[in-house]
Amino acid sequence: MDNNIDRLVRPNILSLSPYSTARDEYSGGSLGVFLDANESPYCNGINRYPDPRQKELKERISAIKGAKVENIFLGNGSDEAIDLCFRVFCRPGIDNAISMWPSYGMYTVAAATNDIGMRKVLLEKDFSLDTEKILSAADGNSKLLFLCSPNNPTANALPKSQIREICSRFGGIVVLDEAYVDFSSEGSMMEELSSFPNLIILQTFSKAWGMAGTRTGLAFSSERIISLFDMVKYPYNLSVLTQNTVLQWLDPSLKERHVREILSERERLRSCLSSLPCIKEIYPSEANFLLIRTDDANAMYDFLISKGIIVRNRTTQPLCEGCLRITVGTPLQNDELLSALSSYGDVSSQIKVTASAPTPEDNRKFSLRRKTSETDIEIRVDLDGGAGGKVSTGLGFFDHMLSQIGRHGGFTLDITAKGDLEIDEHHTIEDVGIALGDAIRQALGSKAGIGRYGFCLPMDECDAAVLLDLGGRIDFRWEVEFKREYVGDVPTDMMEHFFKSLCCELRCNLHIKATGENDHHKAEGVFKAFARALRMAITRTPSPFEMPSSKGVI
Ligand SMILES: *Cc1c(COP(=O)(O)O)cnc(C)c1O
Repeated sequence: MDNNIDRLVRPNILSLSPYSTARDEYSGGSLGVFLDANESPYCNGINRYPDPRQKELKERISAIKGAKVENIFLGNGSDEAIDLCFRVFCRPGIDNAISMWPSYGMYTVAAATNDIGMRKVLLEKDFSLDTEKILSAADGNSKLLFLCSPNNPTANALPKSQIREICSRFGGIVVLDEAYVDFSSEGSMMEELSSFPNLIILQTFSKAWGMAGTRTGLAFSSERIISLFDMVKYPYNLSVLTQNTVLQWLDPSLKERHVREILSERERLRSCLSSLPCIKEIYPSEANFLLIRTDDANAMYDFLISKGIIVRNRTTQPLCEGCLRITVGTPLQNDELLSALSSYGDVSSQIKVTASAPTPEDNRKFSLRRKTSETDIEIRVDLDGGAGGKVSTGLGFFDHMLSQIGRHGGFTLDITAKGDLEIDEHHTIEDVGIALGDAIRQALGSKAGIGRYGFCLPMDECDAAVLLDLGGRIDFRWEVEFKREYVGDVPTDMMEHFFKSLCCELRCNLHIKATGENDHHKAEGVFKAFARALRMAITRTPSPFEMPSSKGVI
């Protein structure tokens, strides 16, 4: 493969002069008087066009992925990058593309909408790909060759050595779709990008990164190919909302944590499902889903629908007769699937739901930053770090209350919150509740060996009763009445709101009651009682591997 990509590009694209936006010509940042784009001058956060080059976002991605900004394209989902491959390289009605098959359906749809023939090369029975077979599908007009690794729906990854060989021998562009790479032990080809000038790697924020709703897809390739994509794309293809939301939620440590949980759940699901006679085969998986084979995929699919569980029926795909594709969910969702399937078909074939061997967390710490347009919150929780910590939210009485949680909960809790207090206290108090619940839940990890329950009554000089169950189900009750509108600088109606937000994110049952005369004491009693209940629930029992549930998992 020579270095000359341009000979593969459609002639009309090579001679294209792209639409130049007003903002392309000015590089002075957000300072300035903008009278160039006929926008509304009235600021509401979205009155200006977004950065067409997505500079800030690309710089963050560059730091995370180790690719240069010039080698990154961002689009409206991977769909946009797939479509651009056709629009940049394939002459409608003349050129063709090749794809391993079965694979992701969008390659074929994009080919068809661009009037490009798609040559589908069937995988082997074990879902491996025959190199000679796929290369021999090519002719002089074959511009694109799609590889998907790990592959959807077969879940297996291609060996890197095979991808290298195909890149070196194919005369056109190899599009390698790594949508599921975060779940794969085979790893990414990103580091080898510079060795293959004809390679485009697709990734996405829709799977491991948890941002499917933003529609953000990534393509990595040579500077030349990325510049061609940028020339052909719609100028403002990622909205202000998308760019800001992705920047807020682009959190590698959170992603890693979620990937770890999905991987352990994937193997738990595999072992539980394998004891079920109605499941004939569970294919190896390098992705966040399992492809399973059953005698009658339609019947099992309909049965699961009737239980409110939706999986993907792949039985009409070649080599996939009888197959369902099941996405790995949260432990609770997976339990729902397992318990539904245990009542499927022959009652004698009940499966045993066994938990993955829980491992006690040796590091029950978690730090997070939660940033929105209203608040910017940093929380550090160290459940075994001893009582204490620093709290600063800009609200004196709220700080005083939050400090009780670490002190009386027996763990280290640092909170810094910068909120829009000039508007009112609502966002700050609510968002601290959300972030705190999230941080404690994440610090708890598998929950192996914890007490799980906490109860506390009465408390100090007022009667404050707090009942807590960290079992994973959410139920919130609040029976506290305040006579005053404020205690210190905290509106009393926000107390309920705070605990409710915390309860949802911590995923617990939390029942709070308090009676008494003095509102200050009542509030303080509630926070202290909550801290005490939490202390009991998070404390580890003498059996560190035991799951505090008869179900074996919580
Ligand atoms: C889910 C998926 C994608 C992601 O598509 P987006 O448009 O980025 O959401 C890409 N490729 C494959 C094979 C997928 O399964």
